Amino acid sequence: MDRIIIENLKVFAHHGVYQEENEKGQNFYLSATLETNTRNAGTLDDLDLSTNYGEVCTFLHRYVTEHTYKLIETVAEKTAEAVLLRFPLIRQITLEVRKPEAPIALPFESVSVQITRGWRRAYLSCGSNMGDKKAHLDGAVEALRADERCRVLEISDWIVTKPYGGVEQDDFLNGAIMLETLYTPKMLLEKLHEIEQSHGRERKVHWGPRTLDLDILLYEDCIMSTEELTIPHVDMHNRWFVLKPLVQIAPYERHPLSGRTIAQMYETVAGEEEEYPASGQDEGHRMRG
Ligand code: ADP
Ligand code: MG
Repeated sequence: MDRIIIENLKVFAHHGVYQEENEKGQNFYLSATLETNTRNAGTLDDLDLSTNYGEVCTFLHRYVTEHTYKLIETVAEKTAEAVLLRFPLIRQITLEVRKPEAPIALPFESVSVQITRGWRRAYLSCGSNMGDKKAHLDGAVEALRADERCRVLEISDWIVTKPYGGVEQDDFLNGAIMLETLYTPKMLLEKLHEIEQSHGRERKVHWGPRTLDLDILLYEDCIMSTEELTIPHVDMHNRWFVLKPLVQIAPYERHPLSGRTIAQMYETVAGEEEEYPASGQDEGHRMRG
């Protein structure tokens, strides 16, 4: 990744825990490293293909002046996200907020907070076997598109599959979605639960019928396991109905634990395909962007 670097942009603003800081104000210094691809702009000498650092400075200055927070942690968090939402070519920002006039009754040069935030790639699986299944899956995509912290990049076909897990129930419609998001894995899961609930999802029977199921399969190279969230999805490599749509949009993506590609994992379970309806019954609607 290439970088555009802004150092010590001076901003007079009113952030601070003490009332006096909010009233009087003081100088803050912002430094930002913007990760982006400058090759096209550099090759063609065309500013339209890059991010205008003058505009970024103006934006930073305005944002930090117009908002007032207690903590420089919050200044950094909010400002970094605002920059990522405003300038689409910036993939990641490292932002330092420095406060050399902070009220500390000891000799010091400066205090600062530095954070790194950026767009992260994630793959989701979606499934429905109640009501208008296609409408539920399409609705999930619409809900993700409507969220500015998510960018839907690719969608698989919606594929008809037999139920899994031994509960007697209707066939499923399954798909996979590639997106970039500013959410952490935990925040993304919360967002998915919110979307599931807005589609009338009730959690009664484990592996039972559902209007909409949204799972996180992969999130960058993240490997994590907590009570509520395991990434990569713990059973993705065994599930035909997950790998069949996923291989359409991410055949060369690798499982961070096994190192196997989606295509390799799909090959291992592809034999199960005979048990499922012919592809002619799929809801083929492949779309991009
Ligand atoms: P399933 O998806 O296995 O059919 P649920 O949708 O009811 O079942 O999920 C049960 C719980 O699984 C969720 O509440 C969530 O906390 C947890 N979970 C763990 N890892 C993941 C993941 N990668 N994606 C989605 N949910 C997960
Ligand atoms: Mg689920």
